[in-house]
Amino acid sequence: MKSIINEFLDQVKQRNPNEPEFIQAVEEVAETVIPYIVKNDIYYGKNILLRMVEPERVITFRVCWVDDSGEIRVNRGYRIQMNSAIGPYKGGLRFHPTVNLSILKFLAFEQVFKNSLTTLPMGGGKGGSDFDPKGKSDNEIMRFCHAFMSELFRHIGHNTDVPAGDIGVGAREIGFLFGMYKKISNGFTGVLTGKGMSWGGSLIRPEATGYGTVYFAENMLKIKNDSLEGKNVIISGSGNVAQFAAEKVLQLGGKVLTLSDSSGYIYDEDGIDLEKLEFVMDLKNVKRARISTYLDKYPNAKFVKGKTPWEVKCDIALPCATQNELNKNDAKTLLENGCICVSEGANMPSTKGAIDEFHKAKILFAPGKASNAGGVATSGLEMTQNSLRFNWTREEVDLKLKEIISNIHNSCIEYGKDENGYIDYVKGANIAGFVKVADAMLAQGIV
Ligand code: NDP
Repeated sequence: MKSIINEFLDQVKQRNPNEPEFIQAVEEVAETVIPYIVKNDIYYGKNILLRMVEPERVITFRVCWVDDSGEIRVNRGYRIQMNSAIGPYKGGLRFHPTVNLSILKFLAFEQVFKNSLTTLPMGGGKGGSDFDPKGKSDNEIMRFCHAFMSELFRHIGHNTDVPAGDIGVGAREIGFLFGMYKKISNGFTGVLTGKGMSWGGSLIRPEATGYGTVYFAENMLKIKNDSLEGKNVIISGSGNVAQFAAEKVLQLGGKVLTLSDSSGYIYDEDGIDLEKLEFVMDLKNVKRARISTYLDKYPNAKFVKGKTPWEVKCDIALPCATQNELNKNDAKTLLENGCICVSEGANMPSTKGAIDEFHKAKILFAPGKASNAGGVATSGLEMTQNSLRFNWTREEVDLKLKEIISNIHNSCIEYGKDENGYIDYVKGANIAGFVKVADAMLAQGIV
């Protein structure tokens, strides 16, 4: 089996040199899915995984805009249309200086499996730019978003490809992107998700990724007859996903000890309660300040510069910032400190070495493609509401989100439970995600 997997990975590496994040994402899938393919005649010999690692289309484009001082700036825009076997391409846009082809291809590849797991009809895609929104004025953000959409618009559409937000792309950016799309397409359609409530958005969409990550943790704990009540939880990041993961942890009776950004983490021994979280939301979403300014209001907390929060003793860890933010040594520290559950809010935040440690220790570990799927699932619900020209209530959307997360959890058990009863959620998510897409690809022929 090892040689079949290695042969496959060698081909992928040869064809995609200098794309370490993409290779990392493919490797994780190949190790669990290839053994399944080999055992199942309907998939064996059809090169399905080889087809799935090749994007259906990769678009790169120039984005020129003028900054507030009148200087002309040039950025690079991307859209990876990875797989459309089960629905229109769907996946976020990331604006961050580290954005490159490798990162977007890993995100697009993971998105295919994640979207399949939601059971909604969505293919996988991802896009973005190396543009850095930090320190830019609202007008600069608007000019960049308009310039970006003036090219992207020809490649997307509500039945073709429906982008959403990701790192650096929140409600403000989606507004500017939608405005330009609407103008040049001369149509008001659900072409983007994460829209504002008065122009086609869905209730609970802003909360959905963070809430879903915590619902997934709750599902995992439940099979151990445990819950979030009274648990110490550490969270990385302080953006959209981290904020609403923290909110849901508090609502379910847990204590939130940390939040972070790229400059370091804050540790509040007394707990970050709802009032403190509201302060953080204003700090990050309105003032767009650094997380360290939390100490201006709450001086009893500590700010640890340049580090991630994994050294803080906890029961549950929720990595909600970015890829590869939790490595093997971090995993060992978490385990030594008694951590029993890790639910990924970010995409691929744990390195392979870290995941191996969690599996060795047999703790509850959920990969992002399962545990953070609540975001895209609720985007799918936004698309449905746009098509129906109708809005569901907050309670209705939240209930559907909970059901979808619970179904994903069940799919992971179906394909990931080993003979000793341990649930390998990585294996379960990969195989369950694969089966639906593979069946559709087989039915549609060699296209
Ligand atoms: P935001 O831009 O709202 O927040 C990102 C947070 O992560 C910020 O606190 C940011 O700090 C921190 N961060 C970003 N890059 C780094 C880095 N290199 N090192 C340390 N910290 C970093 O993004 P989201 O909350 O939307 O996304 C967070 C993660 O969740 C990403 O992995 C994303 O792909 C994933 N995700 C998001 C979904 C969504 O619906 N938004 C859906 C599914 C997954 P700073 O401000 O200093 O950069």
